[in-house]
Amino acid sequence: MSLVLTGIGATSGIAVGRVHRLTAGELAVPEYHLDADAVDAELERVNRAADRGQAFLGDLIERMGEDSGGTARELLEAHRLIMRDPLLLDATCDRIRSERINAEWALVQQREQLMAQFRRLDNEYMALRREDVEQAVSLIQRELAEQPATRVGAQVPHRLDRTIVVALELGPADMAILQQRRVAGLVTEHGGPMSHSAILARSLEIPMLVGIHHALDILEEGESVILDGHYGAVMAAHDESLLRHYQDKQELTRRRRSDLKRYLSRPSRTADGEAFELFGNAELPDEFQRCRDANAVGVGLMRTEYLFMDDTAPDEEQQHRAYRAAVKVLAGKPLTIRTLDLGGDKLPRGLALTRGPNPALGLRGLRLSLSVTKLFRQQIRAILKASVAGPVQILLPMITGLAEVRQARGLIERWGQELRDEGVPVDPDTAVGGMIETPAAALAVDRLVEELDFMSIGTNDLIQYVLAIDREDELVSYLYEPTHIAVLELIDRTVRAGHSRNRPVTVCGEVAGDEKAVRLLLGLGVRRLSMPPACLPAVKKSLIEANAGRCRELVRRYRANEIGQRELLSGLDARF
Ligand code: PEP
Ligand code: MG
Repeated sequence: MSLVLTGIGATSGIAVGRVHRLTAGELAVPEYHLDADAVDAELERVNRAADRGQAFLGDLIERMGEDSGGTARELLEAHRLIMRDPLLLDATCDRIRSERINAEWALVQQREQLMAQFRRLDNEYMALRREDVEQAVSLIQRELAEQPATRVGAQVPHRLDRTIVVALELGPADMAILQQRRVAGLVTEHGGPMSHSAILARSLEIPMLVGIHHALDILEEGESVILDGHYGAVMAAHDESLLRHYQDKQELTRRRRSDLKRYLSRPSRTADGEAFELFGNAELPDEFQRCRDANAVGVGLMRTEYLFMDDTAPDEEQQHRAYRAAVKVLAGKPLTIRTLDLGGDKLPRGLALTRGPNPALGLRGLRLSLSVTKLFRQQIRAILKASVAGPVQILLPMITGLAEVRQARGLIERWGQELRDEGVPVDPDTAVGGMIETPAAALAVDRLVEELDFMSIGTNDLIQYVLAIDREDELVSYLYEPTHIAVLELIDRTVRAGHSRNRPVTVCGEVAGDEKAVRLLLGLGVRRLSMPPACLPAVKKSLIEANAGRCRELVRRYRANEIGQRELLSGLDARF
C-alpha cells in the first residue's frame, strides 16, 4: 500500500528517486568533489574554521561580563562545545576523507544526519539541541565562507541525478543551481503552475509538482518516491510493481519524445496549408543551443532577469557579453531580448530592491526600468552593442500605456545616439516591441500598435490580471483558464490590431507550448508562437495536423455563444 500525496503537476513528466529535503539557504552552500591531493588542505580548512568560530564565541562570552544573563552565556558555551564535538567535527572530517567532498557540503550532510537522529527522539529537549546544532553549524559555515577553498578550479559540481528535492518553495535562482546539479525531480509545498520556477522546470524538462502541502512533514529524507506530473501525485512507500510500471512509462515517454523529433524538419504548414512560425523561449545559457537544435525560427523571448539572479548584478560589459554569446549561438536567427522584468517572484539578490505590498502590481517590468534608468541604460547599451553581431530586437515588458512606450523609445534612441557618438557601432534599425500582458495594454492595443514594431502576448500575466488570480498561488490555480471568453477577446483584439498595421504578433506565454492550446490560438489567427524549446516538437506536430479553417470556425462559434466550452475543446481536440 503506497502513500500518495497530491498537488499540481507543473510538468507532465515522471521521476523516480530518493527524497532530499532542502533546508533554507542550503543551495548557497557550495558542493563539489575534491582531488585526492586536496583532502588534507580541506581538513585543515574546516578545523581552522571551527577554531575561529570557537574563538569568536569565546570573545563574545568574555565581553558579556560576569553578571550578564546566565542563560545566554550557557547557550553560547553550549554552541562552543558543539563546534568541537566529535559527532559533528570528527564525523564531518570522516566524510571529507571518505567521500572526498568539500567541507561545507560535508558539514551540511553531517548536520542532516544528526537532525534525523534528533527527529526520531521527538521531545522538547531534543528540539532545543537541534537548534543548538544548527547554530554551531551556521557559525562554522560563516567562517568557511570567509576563507573559501583556493583550489576552485578542481571542483566538480555535485550531482543530484537520482534525487527528488522537496522544498517549501523554489526561486528561479535555485532552479538554475538544481539544474546544474542534474536534479531528477522537484516537489514544493507552495507555488502555482505558472510561477517562474514551474516555467523553468518545463523548459528544463525537470518533472515538478507544486502545491503538495505538508510534503516536508510527511516525506522522509532518503526514502524512495515516484513523482507523476500528469496526475500531480507523489507516491511514497511504493512496491516494486508500481516502480516497474512507472519505469516502463518513463521509457515510453522517452521513445515518444525522440519520435516527435522527426517533425522538426517538416515544413511549418497546417493541414490546410496555412503557414506558421515557431520560436523558442530561452533563459539559461544552454537554452539558446536547444532552440537551434529544435529548428526554431529564432528566440521569441529571452527573459533577461536570469542574468540578475546571482549575488552580484552584471554590469554593462557582462550583459553585452551574454547577449553577444546568445546572438552568436543563434547564428543569424533573430534574438528577442526582453528588458528586465523583475518583480513578483523574480527579485534578485544582487539588486537592493524592496518587495512592495503587492509585487505583481508594483514597481516591476518597464515601470522599474523607467524609474531606475541607470539599470535600464546599462541594459539598453549592452543590447545595442550586441545588435551588430546579429539580428536583435528589444521587447518591453509590462506596458500599460502609450506614455511609457514613448518614454522608453525616447531613451533607447538617446542611448543609441550616445553609443554612436562614442564611436561604438549599433544597428540603427533595432526593432522595439512590447509585451501585451496587462488588460490595459490589450484594451489600448489599437493605439499602442502605432508605437510598437511588433507585439508579444504574454498570456501568463494576461490571464493572471484579467481573471484576477495570482499565478504564484496554488489555491487559485484551478481558475487559470486560457479559454475564458475575456482572455480570448483580448487575444483576438491584439491579433487584429497587429494584422491591420502589419506588425508581427507572437504569443510567448505558456499556452504557446501546450500542444492542445495552440489550436485555440490558431483559431484566433495567431501564426507565431514562442515556447520552451522542449515543447516545440509536440506543438509542431499538433499544428501540422490541424485544420486552421476549422479551428477558426470553432472559435467563432464559441465566441458567438453558439457552442459551449466542451464542444469547442472536443472540436479542437483540445483539453486544458
Ligand atoms: C507572460 O507573462 O506570459 C510571459 C511570457 O512573461 P513571464 O512569464 O516572464 O511573466
Ligand atoms: Mg509576463
